[in-house]
Amino acid sequence: MSSSVGGVSAGGAAGQGGNGSVGSGSGGSGPCGACKFLRRKCVSNCIFAPYFDQEQGAAHFAAVHRVFGASNVSKLLNHLPEEKRIDAVLTVCFEAQARLRDPVYGCVSHIFALQQQVPRRSAS
Ligand SMILES: [Zn+2]
Repeated sequence: MSSSVGGVSAGGAAGQGGNGSVGSGSGGSGPCGACKFLRRKCVSNCIFAPYFDQEQGAAHFAAVHRVFGASNVSKLLNHLPEEKRIDAVLTVCFEAQARLRDPVYGCVSHIFALQQQVPRRSAS
């Protein structure tokens, strides 16, 4: 029963997708998790870089990209003030992982489960 919103905890969902070969080692600090996943060059003002690190970030971004698409998420973030972006990233990650786990209900199944934990107050 430890449901914290603070971190995007992948839980047991990170079983797959480890393509171990890191190609094109260009040195330096390397791309962010998003650019690593997309196999593109990470620019200095990359919008994903503050939120997706190289290791866990790549796995999170994989889920986000599959559900929402990278360009949609970058557009979303571009429209938000910077201080709100981290919250958007967290919720988008959460939704994406929930949607992959449960293609029908997504995070709504989680909400249903929580609702059932709330004891019903019988009025009579
Ligand atoms: Zn990047």
